[in-house]
Amino acid sequence: MTTTPERIDSAMLHPELRVECDPDAIIRDGHRLDHAEGTSKPLLPAPEPQPRGAKVRGNRPIDQQEAAARFIAATEHEKMHDERLWDLRQKRDREMHGIPEWEELRSLASAIKEHTLTHLDEYLGQFEANARSNGIHVHWARDAAEHNKIVHGILRDHGATSLIKSKSMLTEECGFRHYMASVGIEVIETDLGERIQQLDNEDPSHVVVPAVHKLRTDVAEVFSHTIGTDPGNTDVHYLAEAQREATRPLILKADAGMTGANFVVAETGTFVVCTNEGNADLSANVPKLHIASIGIEKIIPRLEHLAVLVRLLSRSALGSPMTQYTSHFRGPRAGGEMHVVLVDNGRSERLGLDEFWTSLKCIRCGACMNTCPVYRRSGGLSYGATYSGPIGLIIDPTFNARKYSNLPFASSLNGSYPRADLCVATCSGEAA
Ligand code: SF4
Repeated sequence: MTTTPERIDSAMLHPELRVECDPDAIIRDGHRLDHAEGTSKPLLPAPEPQPRGAKVRGNRPIDQQEAAARFIAATEHEKMHDERLWDLRQKRDREMHGIPEWEELRSLASAIKEHTLTHLDEYLGQFEANARSNGIHVHWARDAAEHNKIVHGILRDHGATSLIKSKSMLTEECGFRHYMASVGIEVIETDLGERIQQLDNEDPSHVVVPAVHKLRTDVAEVFSHTIGTDPGNTDVHYLAEAQREATRPLILKADAGMTGANFVVAETGTFVVCTNEGNADLSANVPKLHIASIGIEKIIPRLEHLAVLVRLLSRSALGSPMTQYTSHFRGPRAGGEMHVVLVDNGRSERLGLDEFWTSLKCIRCGACMNTCPVYRRSGGLSYGATYSGPIGLIIDPTFNARKYSNLPFASSLNGSYPRADLCVATCSGEAA
């Protein structure tokens, strides 16, 4: 008579043979599987470690090549990154071909930006006057340090110790989170990609999709040790939901909210924020205090110009006709307070540089990154700077010529970028 496993009295077995003593035992339908069955369980390869970005050593030149080599050596990451961004580029092209007036829109956008930049003082003054009459407090910041101090002052005056914010490359330029941490103010990013990067103590690697260089396994690992998710669960819905559950209570009790702006309209004294997650609306509307940090080049003269630019932005960025949310902020809500900080941080100086001023036309769509073969295969963090890819190698050296002196060599000369016919604002093509 055959003895079935369940008939074996486990007390008779040597302790090492008992199921409960063997952490590797595989039990199915109440039976311990034998060796052959047990090892037939599919073995998952260990996830490839996420390559880290360029090593930043003070003011020393960034070695983009070294960081890019590490990214390329991580073959899963390099393949995913290249494919994901090329997919965005293809979607953009489909959208572009879907509207016959695309080239006309691009020319108009370029002309609007050029006109505004050559009358910048006039339109900024007009915006300030109209915004003040809308009940908005307007501040001016010469540089990053002044921006951080102004925002800190506003928060201190309100006794605020926590701030929720939507994605803003300008605040990255200003080292805002680090500064706020140094003065004891908690900053919580509300854009999913940006929050992933914050939890992983990394900068955004792309102006539109900040965590695009990460595999799902990277995100699962980050969340497992920061918000306690199951490290083996890489389901995107599970991860997004867990993040929502973890962040929502922080949003609800925050003292202040911060947004950037995609466009600022001089004639109305209003500003516009485009997002796909609605997180900017939460940041602006849940707390009573809303602070918007805005680069001075975001200004446009009239509301009708906005119609041209918003039709280009999302199509060029993500290949979608429109961002999910295009929110117009006109003034503080009842019982609330709204502040706008207009930041220069090198923009006026750049405006005076013959070879660089056109970079101020950039609307941060990210299309030049998505098409750039070097960027796609080296990852945004390899540039070791706030702005990466083709637009980064034009802007970054204007902040620090020594530190970013190698970046202009991170180009392929293969004609794929920077191209005046690709860029929405036709800026990088002219500057390259
Ligand atoms: S340089 Fe042009 S393509 Fe690149 S992000 Fe700016 S607007 Fe977009």
